[in-house]
Amino acid sequence: MISDVLLRVDDLQTHFRTRAGLVRAVDGVSFTVPAGGSVGIVGESGSGKSVTSLSIMRLVGAPGFHAGGRILFQGRDIAELSEREFRAIRGKDLALVFQDPMSALNPVYPVGKQVAEALQAHQKLSRRHARERVVELFTLVGIPAPERRVDEYPHKLSGGMRQRVTIAMALANDPSLLILDEPTTALDMTIQAQILDLVRDLRRRVNTAVLLISHDIGVVAEICEEIVVMYGGRVMERGTVAQITKDPKHPYSVGLLDSIPTPAMKGRELNTIGGTVPNPLHMPPGCPFQPRCPKAMDICSTRPELEDAGDGRQLACWLYSGTADR
Ligand code: SF4
Repeated sequence: MISDVLLRVDDLQTHFRTRAGLVRAVDGVSFTVPAGGSVGIVGESGSGKSVTSLSIMRLVGAPGFHAGGRILFQGRDIAELSEREFRAIRGKDLALVFQDPMSALNPVYPVGKQVAEALQAHQKLSRRHARERVVELFTLVGIPAPERRVDEYPHKLSGGMRQRVTIAMALANDPSLLILDEPTTALDMTIQAQILDLVRDLRRRVNTAVLLISHDIGVVAEICEEIVVMYGGRVMERGTVAQITKDPKHPYSVGLLDSIPTPAMKGRELNTIGGTVPNPLHMPPGCPFQPRCPKAMDICSTRPELEDAGDGRQLACWLYSGTADR
């Protein structure tokens, strides 16, 4: 069992100052990613999962700010590093793949040149060696005819191929942690499946830890060993894939799983979680899921903390508070 903690996010708070008031987009989030492990963060849009990944990459710009907590990567608090120190880590030990590959690629340069630049930013390589390494990386991520593709411009490639290029770019410097933020959302279903196959295959071949951000619990369950369920900027439940997908405890996790279409439901109406994600400016007091929760009780207007549930998972729900002591 891998037990070395590569990334420890501890009570992270990332807030935004807006004219209408303070938005606590990430409001006390804690989880860990083991070295070589794979963790998925799931939740609906507005749950704070993407702001969590951007916070780890220090990519939250004004009016957002780091309001508290720690992000320990390889034991160092990345919030405390100077820009120069962090630049040496970002794109090398810590790499990010975005939802939209076009946002990561410059339309006026050939894709191979862009991946070579990512390599040369952290390694001393001649142009010829960099090109050879790019061809190797393109082969690794399943780009056909890589020697030819390195000279093509992003617009010449399909969406799926562009996403493979950005994954190659992220892997260029053998990162210890690869963060994938909704990597398949912008792609059609067939290409989505191919990219997920690629990530699964890469997990076997390279020893990079993966933090996968997705609104789709099914996607996360296919790739990851652990799941963090987020809602309203907080962690609702944390556990192994088997715990969360086969025996979810938190009413929000139950709702997310019930919303996955199955073949048995053909012709029937899709289950959805009633209500809508709360306005982040007006979060309900206490449990953020309270207005939509079928099991809400009076005590739920007081905030439940994330607690060990005794079976290795963690829950923030009054239904399970104190379970570990019982
Ligand atoms: Fe529902 Fe209360 Fe649990 Fe929140 S704390 S999920 S409102 S039962």
